[in-house]
Amino acid sequence: MLKTVAIVGRPNVGKSTLFNRLLGQRKAIVEDFPGVTRDRHYAEITRYDKPFLLVDTGGFEPQTADQLLCQMREQSQVAVEEADIIVFLLDARDGLTPADREIAAMLRRTEKPVLFVVNKVDGDKQEAGTVDFYRLGMDAFIPLSAEHGRGIGELIDALEALL
Ligand code: GDP
Ligand code: MG
Repeated sequence: MLKTVAIVGRPNVGKSTLFNRLLGQRKAIVEDFPGVTRDRHYAEITRYDKPFLLVDTGGFEPQTADQLLCQMREQSQVAVEEADIIVFLLDARDGLTPADREIAAMLRRTEKPVLFVVNKVDGDKQEAGTVDFYRLGMDAFIPLSAEHGRGIGELIDALEALL
């Protein structure tokens, strides 16, 4: 059985960009597995040393705060139930937001490994602003740029240590 890695995070942090980056295609060829919610994308990632099943949990763009909360709850539930490893994605450009804290609080209940990943660290300039995220209480996080590929190797190394 392939281990499942779920990407969670609030809208626009770059979940789908990271999904496509790991898949190695600009436009992800993804399958909606039968019997699961349509707004969830799955792909088998086979290009690294250890294969895994990747899940992009982002669906719709919430219009209201209620919808946002609802989506985040659903996502973290998916992550906790279906995934073996959770990639919690944050956004260096926005910094730490209340929605991030909400997701962090929900993920704190799982025993499963959670990798804290800060996206949109396109260069050294953004890297300096990421210390704020330590307020979430993690020991370490991985800074990367899903769009430009910076730091992807570090994420793969961290994933493979858990696969
Ligand atoms: P999602 O809602 O979490 O799936 O986020 P998307 O993958 O759709 O990305 C949201 C926006 O962030 C898009 O405009 C992306 O181009 C942008 N984005 C994603 N990754 C990066 C990154 O590494 N750096 C920068 N600067 N922008 C990014
Ligand atoms: Mg998305």
